[in-house]
Amino acid sequence: MSNAILSSSQYQNYRRIDLIVIHCSATRCDRPFPLEAVIACHRARGFATVGYHYYVTRDGTVHAGRPLYQEGAHATGYNRRSIGVCYEGGLDPRGQPADTRTDAQKETLLKLMQRLKKDYPHARIVGHRDIPCVAKDCPCFDARGEYEYL
Ligand SMILES: [Zn+2]
Repeated sequence: MSNAILSSSQYQNYRRIDLIVIHCSATRCDRPFPLEAVIACHRARGFATVGYHYYVTRDGTVHAGRPLYQEGAHATGYNRRSIGVCYEGGLDPRGQPADTRTDAQKETLLKLMQRLKKDYPHARIVGHRDIPCVAKDCPCFDARGEYEYL
């Protein structure tokens, strides 16, 4: 994992961050959905570029999305104060919501959460579905519970 991508401290003063929101791409785990596809998808929805700040592909690579000083487009009503992190997957081969994270993705997500908590100690880590009024399965695992100890 590249330190350049993870060094977020320099941007801390640009926005007040108190929330880290984890998402899944809601794509089938047996079909590749690279960052380029996310970008194309989000542009089609009218966003300038990818709406997340980090995107973790199935091989465990963390890809830089929007710079942290920029507001994301991933959680309506919460973008101004949050960081958006997404992992590739979230649907099983039949298209049903499932925790499809690979071991590599779990490891990378944990490292990323540890790093972000270091930079933003007061930020809470939640799953997209933990946000009030979000009727989605995203990110298809209990992110709040899993990272609560950090
Ligand atoms: Zn989501």
